[in-house]
Amino acid sequence: MKQQQFLCLLPVMGQLFSNTPNEEHQDLVSSFKQFKDSNVKSKLISQEATSAIELHLTKGDIQGANAVITAALKEISDIPLNIAVTGESGSGKSSLVNTLRGVKHESKDAAPIGVCETTIERASYTHPNLPNVTIWDLPGIGTTNFPPKDYLKRVQFVEYDFFIIVSATRFKQNDIDLAEVIRMMGKNFYFVRTKVDSDLRNEKECKPSTFNENKVLQMIRKNCLDNFKKNGMIEPQIFLVSNNNLSKFDFPKLMDTLIKDVPAQKRHIFTLSLPNITEAAIERKRESLKKYIWLEAFKGGLQATLPALGMISVKDMKKLKASLNHFQLLFGVDDLSLKLLAKDLQVPVEQLKAIIKSPHLLEMENEETLMETFWGYVEKFFSVNGGLVATGLYFQKIFYLQLHFLDTVTEDAKVLLKQLYSRENSNLPCPTAADCNKI
Ligand code: GDP
Ligand code: MG
Repeated sequence: MKQQQFLCLLPVMGQLFSNTPNEEHQDLVSSFKQFKDSNVKSKLISQEATSAIELHLTKGDIQGANAVITAALKEISDIPLNIAVTGESGSGKSSLVNTLRGVKHESKDAAPIGVCETTIERASYTHPNLPNVTIWDLPGIGTTNFPPKDYLKRVQFVEYDFFIIVSATRFKQNDIDLAEVIRMMGKNFYFVRTKVDSDLRNEKECKPSTFNENKVLQMIRKNCLDNFKKNGMIEPQIFLVSNNNLSKFDFPKLMDTLIKDVPAQKRHIFTLSLPNITEAAIERKRESLKKYIWLEAFKGGLQATLPALGMISVKDMKKLKASLNHFQLLFGVDDLSLKLLAKDLQVPVEQLKAIIKSPHLLEMENEETLMETFWGYVEKFFSVNGGLVATGLYFQKIFYLQLHFLDTVTEDAKVLLKQLYSRENSNLPCPTAADCNKI
């Protein structure tokens, strides 16, 4: 470390060493209280877990607190999430499966789509960045000719967290019966009406002088709802979407609703799985990850006996690199995604790299220069967040660097999102979920 940087950190170190064990203990409890309060809304971990951690901390049982945090972090990272997509053949199920995974229809692990593709058996598609998240492409109930109960048994209904029922026209009696049985079995379902883009296009072509987009959308919605009424079902919420243009219409609302409804312990992983189609979606991911790395660092801080200000270990360095790669993948700012996005935008990849920052974060020639960069960040954060450090929380410094990486990657994702949507003004086609995940 440069002498100058070391001198900058001395006051902070002085404060840290001057804290008495009792003060440190109080600081731990009050810092965790802040997290607990914010967790009421974000629900990163369960309330039982936050209460247990607080109790352990109040009693000074660091080991106990540590064990609960470890288990809670493991639970929210390892928990499986299974989403079932069902509907008639040709309704856009497989397209929606690809959309939810942020995968291009033509990529080799995509669900095959097209008018001739009929799903006869259920097919599973793992999320490319989150191995615990699986989207299931189910055969339409009409294709199987089974009554709803038998159909659900056949497709192993217990395995799914919720169902998305897709139609490109009106929802049929079959869909409505299926939804009733899903409800009886205590699971959630969501009606998604696809292909609204082509309905709008057709209407515009047929009635160019009287065409009104909002009116057509209202008509589609009413048409679907009337059918539910006619079949004696309480009108459900219907999401009008286009798999070809996700940020438009109700797809963002569908994401919000699903996030709200999904069980608390699955919310983190589900949030991370969703495509980066709007700034709000990017922000939501950032917030969830920020809380996660805070808790991880808090746990690390509990284990440390003294603030390890002197060195960034090889292990820390590995973790930092892994974090950066993980963030880049989740926000579609990794090398491969940038290449694919550049191809879609028909620009050289260097042009995209020139307007974002994260690809250059670790572009250093050797370990020594990398360390210098890290220390630059540490110094910056310690001077800004000195108060936080002086609370006696021995957060490893990598927390600050992880946060810096996360902020950089999310800012990059937003810059690229703007680039992507600016092409709406050009003649290029609308961005797909795969495009957005490639930012
Ligand atoms: P599945 O049989 O239900 O799996 O339907 P697919 O996902 O294979 O889609 C059938 C056809 O509809 C394909 O040609 C898709 O490109 C097209 N399609 C799917 N969703 C949409 C959409 O929202 N808008 C438009 N215009 N076409 C779509
Ligand atoms: Mg299909």
